[in-house]
Amino acid sequence: MQDCLFCKIAAGQIPSDKVYEDEICYAFRDINPQAPTHILIIPKEHMANVVECAGRTDGLLGRLFQAAARIAQDQGLDEKGFRLVTNCGEYGAQSVHHFHIHLLGGRQLSGQMG
Ligand code: AMP
Repeated sequence: MQDCLFCKIAAGQIPSDKVYEDEICYAFRDINPQAPTHILIIPKEHMANVVECAGRTDGLLGRLFQAAARIAQDQGLDEKGFRLVTNCGEYGAQSVHHFHIHLLGGRQLSGQMG
């Protein structure tokens, strides 16, 4: 999508600290990390949020979460644990309107979710 920051990152038009890539997904380190490991997992194809992604019939949402879990293992986060979060819309405080899953780990995270 034109003028979408994460579309441009997935296409290599804007630099990013890439962690993983396959035919459907791209993962890179968050520019403003909220934990020692903070990675964003995005679909290469533009979609605004988790609701749009869940509307797909090709299992894309599941594949993105599988990729996120695999990246967590690759980063050595699975023993101590980690968090996967996706913000959706205004009340969800989503700031980039290209669906993304946050992978956070490397320290004890707060029990507060809101
Ligand atoms: P959200 O608020 O859930 O939409 O998350 C958007 C995330 O994108 C934030 O954690 C930002 O720090 C991150 N972000 C914004 N621009 C970039 C960028 N150029 N490279 C990496 N992460 C970014």
